[in-house]
Amino acid sequence: MTTRSHPKGLYLLFVTEMWERFSYYGMRAIFVLFMIKALMFDKAHAADIYGTYTGLVYLTPLVGGYIADRYWGNRRSILVGGVMMAIGQFMLFLSGNLHNTDVQSATWFLYGGLGMLIAGNGLFKPNISSMVGQLYEPGDKRVDSAFTIFYMGINTGSLMAPLICGTLGDTGHPDDFKWGFLAAGFGMLLSLAVFSLFKNKYLVTPQGAPIGMAPKRVHESGEKVVHAPLTRIEKERLAVILIVSAFVIFFWSAFEQAGASLTFFAEEQTNRNLLGFTVPASYFQSLNPISVVIFAPIFAMIWTALGRKGMEPSSPAKMAFGLLFLSIGYLVIAFGVDGLQPGVKVSMLWLVSLYVLHTFGELCLSPIGLSLVVKLSPARFTGLMMGVWFLSTAAANKFAGTLSELYPEAGKAAPQLLGYTINNLHDFFMVFVFMAGAASLVLFLLSSQLKKMTHGLQ
Ligand code: GLN
Repeated sequence: MTTRSHPKGLYLLFVTEMWERFSYYGMRAIFVLFMIKALMFDKAHAADIYGTYTGLVYLTPLVGGYIADRYWGNRRSILVGGVMMAIGQFMLFLSGNLHNTDVQSATWFLYGGLGMLIAGNGLFKPNISSMVGQLYEPGDKRVDSAFTIFYMGINTGSLMAPLICGTLGDTGHPDDFKWGFLAAGFGMLLSLAVFSLFKNKYLVTPQGAPIGMAPKRVHESGEKVVHAPLTRIEKERLAVILIVSAFVIFFWSAFEQAGASLTFFAEEQTNRNLLGFTVPASYFQSLNPISVVIFAPIFAMIWTALGRKGMEPSSPAKMAFGLLFLSIGYLVIAFGVDGLQPGVKVSMLWLVSLYVLHTFGELCLSPIGLSLVVKLSPARFTGLMMGVWFLSTAAANKFAGTLSELYPEAGKAAPQLLGYTINNLHDFFMVFVFMAGAASLVLFLLSSQLKKMTHGLQ
């Protein structure tokens, strides 16, 4: 059973999400630069807008999930969300067109575009993920590996995004940012086109019934459908989602240092010379999506092989391993900078090792978490619970910013955290070793109890 190939619908969702993520990350790659270099915002203001935007983008899935569960179903929510996101990208394109002739309109198009992206993502993101699980029968062992494959789609899009939108938009000439946004808009249209064309053919259950349709509100007899109250088992399963989502906040807030403190570290403390060429600090951020695409199939194979021997860890235990990998990644780099004199730069290999270890962690936690949410939610709540899962990313992004303020800088008073003084980079990285390590340990200890609370669905 574990070796059976996957339904075609999985590859449709893979391609749809790949182009949507291309659009999302393509815009993100040039967004801050556009605000600073074309709209002439100061850096702190741009950073503030960026933080608010990335936080809100993961907050709205709660609403989008609810709308799908209650009214629209996944398909319609995805289509409406996708159209809104495409409009958002085209509004940014207009902002890029107007930035030096009519700054006021350009600013309005910026905010309008961001609003469309935030609302659109809320409708799109939780619902595309919940459809992956519905392609399988409950209890099908292939679901974890399906989400791992789907995760490769996410990262293939994320990987192409800065290369294409960055190259078109970030040319050094502020008039060119618009081309990056335009490419992001076309990516979104491509995602919508593929989804619309093939959804009826491939988005079906193993028996051929369509999935992702609007929930029935009225019986054929004309009587209203009443949603059954939650049973005790269902409540325990939902509690598992809430508990693991809380742990996941620790994961993403340490992981998301990539865009903040780890980029400062790449910029200032890493020797980026490679055969006479200086690797730009921003390139380090593509190490993660590249590693996901390389290692995801290996992880999927490992789970399948362990499953065949009856040795596959439970989902909460896999997620605890994820936190452990994250902790080890920081331990490696803490070792690399131990006793480092100010102004001395370390080899790039430290950051490369950190990102690869973090990717291993992500592959144990993120696709597994999406899969767990789908398996544990009663069908009438899947969208909403997916929203809860993404809520932890929203909280973590905010927390990540606060933690990165602890980054030690010469001439600044040593920051403190719960009585622990951060005198140097080693101390800073150790914060994440402890944080992720402690979360991993507690999750390991809880994992057999959590497994019981899933009542056989982990
Ligand atoms: N990078 C992944 C994505 O964009 C995971 C994001 C998350 O859940 N924090 O979908």
